[in-house]
Amino acid sequence: MNPAELTLDEMERWLREEDDRKLEELWEAADRTRREHVGDAVHLRGLIEISNYCVRQCGYCGLRSDHHGLQRYRMTEEEIMACVGRAVEFGYGTVVMQSGEDYGILAPWLAGVIRRIKTETSLAVTLSLGERLDHELELWRNAGADRYLLRFETSDAELYNLIHPALADRRFDRLEILHTLRRLGYEVGSGVMIGIPGQSYRILAKDIDMFRRLDLDMIGVGPYISHPCTPLGQGDSTSSLPPDEQVPNTERMTYKVMALTRLVCPQANIPSTTALATLDRDNGRELGLQRGANVVMPNLTPPQYRVLYEIYPDKACVHETAEACCGCLGARIAALDRFVGTGPGGRLR
Ligand code: SAM
Ligand code: SF4
Repeated sequence: MNPAELTLDEMERWLREEDDRKLEELWEAADRTRREHVGDAVHLRGLIEISNYCVRQCGYCGLRSDHHGLQRYRMTEEEIMACVGRAVEFGYGTVVMQSGEDYGILAPWLAGVIRRIKTETSLAVTLSLGERLDHELELWRNAGADRYLLRFETSDAELYNLIHPALADRRFDRLEILHTLRRLGYEVGSGVMIGIPGQSYRILAKDIDMFRRLDLDMIGVGPYISHPCTPLGQGDSTSSLPPDEQVPNTERMTYKVMALTRLVCPQANIPSTTALATLDRDNGRELGLQRGANVVMPNLTPPQYRVLYEIYPDKACVHETAEACCGCLGARIAALDRFVGTGPGGRLR
């Protein structure tokens, strides 16, 4: 296998591979590539879920605006700064502010929060706030934001339009926004869910190829987890793929995608995600770190809001305190003979 030149056919073959001994080769290649290109450090990014309001109707997500049963919240500046203080206390290098696509988060207000974080701490700031307008993205970049995460969710335009309806008044293209983010000087992150109804093996191989072509700095992939209050969770299947074409939303498939992603994007920062830990609570994070990942995102969101940031049900670690998350992850990283990275942990080139 020549990792840099894996073809779509080869990637699809790996995605369909079920032989444990053969897969061992893939895990080893991914782990070796990770060690050679980004080393043994595991970077901790403190996640702050600053609002669960969302204008969107994504067919897969529990925060969609039609989910009227969900109590909504938006954190204040002081609440966010308290979480930032914990990030500093725990030695994290980055805070990630994530939310639904919430236009109640006013761009100038958030720019002020970003400026405060950059003035009062040495943390890197990552944003993950959905498809905001170009001038807002620019304002936040000028305020000091370092990185932006926006998953393209699937490279297949037809499937994308089915699961991610456009807003009535404007059409946005996540790929176009990723280019804008790059032009503005952000480190750019993207990714997909694995096992969305309608996702074929070929589409998933093309997703991984898209990571390579976009030369992403950060790549987050996690299993799709069904939420009963969403159209997809209610069986509103987007397409009727034959069973042998539909990608399963399993932990094993997620490891395959993480490993292939590491092989084709050797320098990228790749998290071992909470969705993966939700499927395999005992070993998900560790196996992710051993099969390509070099980042984890401990949650700093205050407990009263954490339970309301319900993208999918029964999320791992939702009832843990920020201290417990920090201690637990530190111990898991040490048990793998790896160490916690210091500093912002940006992309190495
Ligand atoms: N609103 C922003 C956005 O959509 O980019 C950021 C927050 S959104 C909750 C972050 C990511 O959660 C999405 O990009 C999507 O991939 C993931 N997600 C949403 N629903 C999910 C589900 N049911 N299972 C797994 N991941 C999900
Ligand atoms: Fe909103 Fe993001 Fe969920 Fe879509 S994935 S409904 S944009 S929070």
